[in-house]
Amino acid sequence: MTDKVHYLDNNATTRVAPEVEEAMKPFFGELYGNPSSMHFFGGTNQKYLDRARESVARLLGAGPEEILFTSCGTESDSTAIWSALRAFPEKKHLVTTKVEHPAVLNLCKYLETQGYRVTYLGVDAEGRLSLDELKAALAPDTAIVSVMWANNETGVVFPVEDAARIAHSRGALFHTDAVQAVGKVPINLAESKIDMLSLSGHKLHAPKGIGALYIKKGTRFSPFLMGGHQERGRRAGTENVPYIVALGRAAELALEKMGEENGRVKALRDRLEQGLLKAVKNARVNGGGADRLPNTSHIGFEYVEGESILIMLSEKGICASSGSACTSGSLEPSHVMMSMGVPQTYAHGTIRFSLSVYSTDEDVDAVLREVPPVIERLREISPFADGKPLFGMDACEPHKH
Ligand code: PLP
Repeated sequence: MTDKVHYLDNNATTRVAPEVEEAMKPFFGELYGNPSSMHFFGGTNQKYLDRARESVARLLGAGPEEILFTSCGTESDSTAIWSALRAFPEKKHLVTTKVEHPAVLNLCKYLETQGYRVTYLGVDAEGRLSLDELKAALAPDTAIVSVMWANNETGVVFPVEDAARIAHSRGALFHTDAVQAVGKVPINLAESKIDMLSLSGHKLHAPKGIGALYIKKGTRFSPFLMGGHQERGRRAGTENVPYIVALGRAAELALEKMGEENGRVKALRDRLEQGLLKAVKNARVNGGGADRLPNTSHIGFEYVEGESILIMLSEKGICASSGSACTSGSLEPSHVMMSMGVPQTYAHGTIRFSLSVYSTDEDVDAVLREVPPVIERLREISPFADGKPLFGMDACEPHKH
């Protein structure tokens, strides 16, 4: 194990920015007031909350009154979907995609056991969504369409503005899980048809355990947590002042840095990707033909297992993620790989590298130095490298449209 960490797993979580850490510190110490208190001491913290709300709103091109602070991206997703179902109790249908994060997918699966119908839209081989399929899926009783802005595994970006317009044309609300998009792509909700948008602090250099939900002014809303009057009655519970301040500061930094940093991050990502494709035979970029986030690269290496690559890279100080999930003891390609119909021989050997504003040329050099010999070594010992299908399975069934 080396001392040097090459952290390329920023879609899993990001480091807290030093400026963010600095901004939140006083609220663990001398500034401990409750923002709801009548006295000046609480009132001071209310002002900090207001400022953070304005900063988050500015990052999204929204109004501060449209921002609701939550505990995480998952809570924002759940709040949005439950709210739509409660606000329109006569509507029993939802539309989402097969490649959503479990925060949306598992809620939808649960809702199916409660009498709701859910249509799961597929994606093509590049991970792209078909808007025609969305149009066809809508029904008079569709309460909400929930489509992620960008996929956490592949970074593929969906046409959420068009999807929102289509949802509205049939009277459905539109929610987007933008947890992976906020801070990485420009977002301007001022002219948008999007009704609700989820974000999560720990994906943009704020701490874990803070999120926000944008709710367009005038959207029918039903709270998830009921109790006190915090967040104008839309989410009860004493506000997490330090983390809200942190999210506000992270939003300011994202807005300041996005323009210049995204180009640099994309150039690093492209160098990593092209370098690996050149150095390693039988490698492919999943979603490489689609519009993608600038920081994400999802690469499939044929005839090797993602987990083995990760373990060997981890010993070299390189942190990344794999595209497989351990389901009942066996490693299955992720639901995203399955939906894209990635060939099984590649789907098992997928690695996600995700960069951030803190990624450096040194990190990319480390990947280009360490990954090719790791793949070569694993292929030497792989019983499947002679072309036999992995785990006796054929290619995933691609989605057609
Ligand atoms: N949605 C997406 C697309 C994500 O990538 C994640 C986290 O990985 C979440 C939702 C959940 O966010 P949180 O960890 O803040 O609950």
